[in-house]
Amino acid sequence: AKKSGRARWQFFDATMHSQAMTRLTLEDEIRTSLAAGDFVVHYQPVVTLADRAVVGHEALVRWQHPQRGLVSPAEFLPVAEESGLILGIGRAVLAQVCTVLAGHPDAPGTISVNVSAVELARDDWAQLFTATVERHGVDPARLVVEVTETAVLALGTVTVANLVAVRDLGVGLHVDDFGTGFSSISLLRDLPVTGLKLDASFVADLGDPLSEDGRGAHALAAGLAGLVSHLGLAGVAEGVETEAQAEALRGQGWSHGQGYLFGRPAPWPA
Ligand code: C2E
Ligand code: CA
Ligand code: CA
Ligand code: CA
Repeated sequence: AKKSGRARWQFFDATMHSQAMTRLTLEDEIRTSLAAGDFVVHYQPVVTLADRAVVGHEALVRWQHPQRGLVSPAEFLPVAEESGLILGIGRAVLAQVCTVLAGHPDAPGTISVNVSAVELARDDWAQLFTATVERHGVDPARLVVEVTETAVLALGTVTVANLVAVRDLGVGLHVDDFGTGFSSISLLRDLPVTGLKLDASFVADLGDPLSEDGRGAHALAAGLAGLVSHLGLAGVAEGVETEAQAEALRGQGWSHGQGYLFGRPAPWPA
């Protein structure tokens, strides 16, 4: 038993060692790619559910990896956040978005950028954001910042000050993945929010209104639509893939939608 116990530990050791190696390699590669400009932005349209007019786009980062091709954020954001490299990625994304906005004065509506908790915890984040927007001569009202409920859960003073500062500048503020966190309602009270994005998981459950999940999702999505309109906020339903979902959401009072049904993320012009 002792022998096999030791063998097992050796096995775990080797695994942990290789995980640490992978992490460090990934970190190094992210650093190299940042310097090389290999983080690119794709844009996904946000439309009105009534007439499918494009009212803006969401900026979604992709890693143009020299060997592996286009890598999705799920594969590098955790390491980028732990290592702090997300700060560089966030700056690269904002600079590209501002370049697009400055170069296309007639682009429809706003462009939304995702901002992580690690960025918002930096006391110079809003200052750097503002400097970038001003350097490009971009009207701040053409930008929206998306924050997840979990990212602002703690509502630390630095995080709140950063978000208030960009709102004061005229940037919109949307709560992302709404309904999946624990502080949804208090967020609306404590932050100068301008819009909500209904999490895609609610939209997915709308598929089958007769199932238990479907009934719950319908009731919640409808209730949240009422909340959004009472508060005078913009409401965007995410992950809309079918006409049935789009119709159900429109009927519930959701004004805007985003999802593969309307357009996939793509390089600009989106
Ligand atoms: P998110 O902000 O919730 O973005 C929506 C995600 O849903 C995107 O995944 C998008 O490609 C995907 N999506 C859009 N329509 C549909 C649909 O109809 N069906 C399905 N199944 N998926 C759809 P993506 O691009 O892989 O991004 C994943 C997450 O990574 C984002 O979730 C966001 O939290 C984060 N992220 C993306 N770009 C950035 C960035 O520049 N900075 C930071 N901090 N986070 C980012
Ligand atoms: Ca988002
Ligand atoms: Ca989302
Ligand atoms: Ca998400």
